[in-house]
Amino acid sequence: MDAAATTADLLAALAPSWSAAVVLASYLAYLAAAGALLPGKLVAGAVLPDSSRLHYRCNGLLSLLLLLGLSALGVYMGWMTPTVVADRGLELLSTTLIFSVIVSFLLYYTGLRSRHQSSSLKPHATGSFIEDWWFGVQLNPHFMGVDLKFFFIRAGMMAWLFINLSLLAKSYLAGSVNRAVILYQFFCGWYIIDYFIHEEFMTSTWDIIAERLGFMLVFGDLVFIPFTFTIQGWWLLRNKVELPLLASVANCIIFLIGYLVFRGANKQKHLFKKDPKAPIWGKPPKVVGGKLLVPGYWGIARHCNYLGDLLLALSFSLPCGASSVIPYFYPTYLLILLIWRERRDEARCSEKYKDIWAEYCKLVPWRILPYVY
Ligand code: NDP
Repeated sequence: MDAAATTADLLAALAPSWSAAVVLASYLAYLAAAGALLPGKLVAGAVLPDSSRLHYRCNGLLSLLLLLGLSALGVYMGWMTPTVVADRGLELLSTTLIFSVIVSFLLYYTGLRSRHQSSSLKPHATGSFIEDWWFGVQLNPHFMGVDLKFFFIRAGMMAWLFINLSLLAKSYLAGSVNRAVILYQFFCGWYIIDYFIHEEFMTSTWDIIAERLGFMLVFGDLVFIPFTFTIQGWWLLRNKVELPLLASVANCIIFLIGYLVFRGANKQKHLFKKDPKAPIWGKPPKVVGGKLLVPGYWGIARHCNYLGDLLLALSFSLPCGASSVIPYFYPTYLLILLIWRERRDEARCSEKYKDIWAEYCKLVPWRILPYVY
């Protein structure tokens, strides 16, 4: 009887609603307006196969700070509660999922009809509906001047922070804020704000330069990132963890090492793409074939940035202790994703750089973790 009642409650909470649709629409409309109107550095993206380059206005940090300020004002004035996002978490999840499905069908149909020949808009159809809908048809589709791929990633990363803050407010009201909650919130908050501080680095990443925009990315950005990366926060709301001091220190060290490797590697590559002569760790960089960076983190493993990200993901889960595997969903998923991603990137680079890539692989034999993989 209790189990049946719980399932019925869960299904009721999961039902999509018009109020959740209004929250989602307002959020996306705010992001579109803020992205178009707020000042920000204009960054040139990677050179595409047809030699064109897209430009990205990196004003994500300002958009985020303004939205945080507006939300704080809304809470202060009593227009909204600080727990509104967490209270409506499941209906927001189902509503966003439906939105992602609709958007991906629209992307599929408009993509197939595109007559553009530029690299960013030219349709790449395999003829298989599932494959084209899943992976997308166009590289960088636009809507009313908005680069949708860049926009959806921004929306997902910001939503991750807002769900976490709402969970923190719930913990605070329940009197259950402890060291585990603080560490979890601090690590994720740092990661997300740091992402927006370095938003321009995103313009040279795989998602932007190589992945087409289909259901996989739309769902990944809008649903998967905000609603599954916060599982630890939901879990800590229902489970009290007394984290020993020594474990907390070890957790902080893993976070710090992960952050230095993740940020350092991504920064080195981004600076190298802008200026191939920029010094790496104080010395002029050694480069293979004039194209691939060998020193710094890129000489330790071919995807040292993935190693840093995996350590960070682990550090987000460790505050939950070892009593359950549920909070370890994120690092487990990321491990699988990044191994798959590394294989796909390897194939892409091997085809693009040919002998230069083979030489790089000889110089740097490890893929992600030296002496292990
Ligand atoms: P990378 O940023 O590593 O980009 C790969 C590209 O970098 C290659 O295709 C190649 O592109 C270029 N490159 C590779 N090796 C070299 C080299 N030695 N010198 C110069 N350029 C090189 O991959 P991602 O976009 O996958 O990852 C970016 C970050 O995002 C990572 O830190 C990753 O961990 C993170 N991430 C996080 C996810 C999450 O869910 N939390 C999901 C996916 C990624 P080119 O053709 O331009 O040379």
